[in-house]
Amino acid sequence: ELLQHGVDTVPDREALVFVPYGGQGPSRWTYAELGRDVERVARALVAWEVRRGEVVAVYAANRPEFVLLQFACSQLGAIAVPVNPLYAPDELAYVLDRAAVKVCFADAVHKDLALWDTLARIAGEVPSLRERVALAPVEGHDLDWERWVARGEEVGDDALAAARAQAQTDDIVQIEFTSGTTGRPKAVQIFSRALYNGGRCTACRAEIEDGCRYLHAMPFFHVGGSITAMASTYAVRGTQIVLPYFSPREVCAAIEREDATAAIGVPTMLIAMAVRAEEEGYAFERLRTVLTGGALVPAKVAATWIDRYDVGIANTYGMTETTGPCIQTGPSDPLERALETVGRPLPGVEVEIVEPGTETRVPIGVEGEVRFRGWGTMKGYLGDEEATAAALSQDGWMRSGDLGVLGSDGFVAITGRAKDIIIRGGENIAPKTIEDAIRKLVPDIVDVSVVGVPDEYYGEAVAAYVTLRDGATLTHEELTAALEGDVPAYRIPAHLRVVDAFPTTPSGKVQKFRLLEQFRAEAG
Ligand code: ATP
Ligand code: MG
Repeated sequence: ELLQHGVDTVPDREALVFVPYGGQGPSRWTYAELGRDVERVARALVAWEVRRGEVVAVYAANRPEFVLLQFACSQLGAIAVPVNPLYAPDELAYVLDRAAVKVCFADAVHKDLALWDTLARIAGEVPSLRERVALAPVEGHDLDWERWVARGEEVGDDALAAARAQAQTDDIVQIEFTSGTTGRPKAVQIFSRALYNGGRCTACRAEIEDGCRYLHAMPFFHVGGSITAMASTYAVRGTQIVLPYFSPREVCAAIEREDATAAIGVPTMLIAMAVRAEEEGYAFERLRTVLTGGALVPAKVAATWIDRYDVGIANTYGMTETTGPCIQTGPSDPLERALETVGRPLPGVEVEIVEPGTETRVPIGVEGEVRFRGWGTMKGYLGDEEATAAALSQDGWMRSGDLGVLGSDGFVAITGRAKDIIIRGGENIAPKTIEDAIRKLVPDIVDVSVVGVPDEYYGEAVAAYVTLRDGATLTHEELTAALEGDVPAYRIPAHLRVVDAFPTTPSGKVQKFRLLEQFRAEAG
């Protein structure tokens, strides 16, 4: 059975395993079963008159229904929008309205949030919304998933074939919102061809094997879940093992129990997982490949996974706007390059380093802003032509806002976000250099995040936020003493804050702007 153009399948092989929390056992689909269920969902979309270019949304933590809907939508050229369950009601209304969502599927609850109630409350503010479908039983509402799907049974083969024949490779089939690391999330329109190309290129560079068992708790509402994990798995006829959301305990246990051979996490997740795995004594014997990315990957974090668990690391660098990874390392890269860079461009992607904010290329070895052109580039931000024009040039170059250096060997090193650069008394300081030094030189550090904070004399000063191992302490004097000699005096943090956790996006990325807000609030 064909799931999607270009996706090859093995009927008897496991295609999808969903591992719910709360004690129930996993649900499992072979490729044959997945193909059958996707077809039922495609018929239902036709029955409910969701046509090419029209939009359905899933407002929930990771659920198997999203996988079925994404394939079914791709077959018809319709659009699936995974919606972050942590959105506040006004954000939910904004997103559903902005994307002109026709059918919204929602879970009853997520953690302590009453998703279904929130959806019911804002439904009136979304004129495009025609149906609300409950993914888990809710009182007083009859339209649940099974009933919604069952209506597809009235759709004959000819009607289904006619609807499928409409789909084109340059259809938009997914809308993903950016992480919100630097501010309000932006709605990115993702091409059908980019989704599956992206999966294939990432899997190939990461050397994920045919039939891999690829486990993740990356949210589907982030390209890390829907492309780097899901599309990659299906590019190599693998088994996608999905958890509802990230919990280091559950993810580590599931890797062991499900014999996962590949896994993925943003750096903050890999840090938390390594701590957990050590406590539990997990060896991850079957695990061969760990993918990461989404934020700067500290060399020490990658090295820990390679040394302890004997895995190949793939560091993926990209943006929602490039349909996920566009530069990537793989297990075959020289170790030092794999740890210090984000690798080389994926096939079909051009990368240039330019003077920030311009189109002028800088020489090899010189730092500048990274920009890309290729199959992954988004169509644009939905309903925001101004922002699209600012990010995407007429001739297809997408600017990243990230600083990097291209080496003569074609490897690209990312030095950080242009926005995060600290300017202290006219000196530019990349937070990464200080974060790396703290990781290396200060004992008992679990994680560190360095930000620029207001300073009357220097304009900006360096502040280090750290999390420590259980029971450990760190004073500003100790921090300073540990760095002196190795770190130039002007870069040694003027402020130290020991915290329990960093503010992160739901995809696990540290939100530096919130650390700065915290600092400002304390300073009064
Ligand atoms: P927003 O645009 O809403 O502020 P965001 O940029 O974090 O959030 P994403 O599209 O998820 O949203 O992330 C893309 C950014 O993540 C890149 O521009 C880059 O700054 C960072 N990034 C991604 N992968 C890597 C990586 N491997 N190494 C360093 N940085 C990375
Ligand atoms: Mg961004």
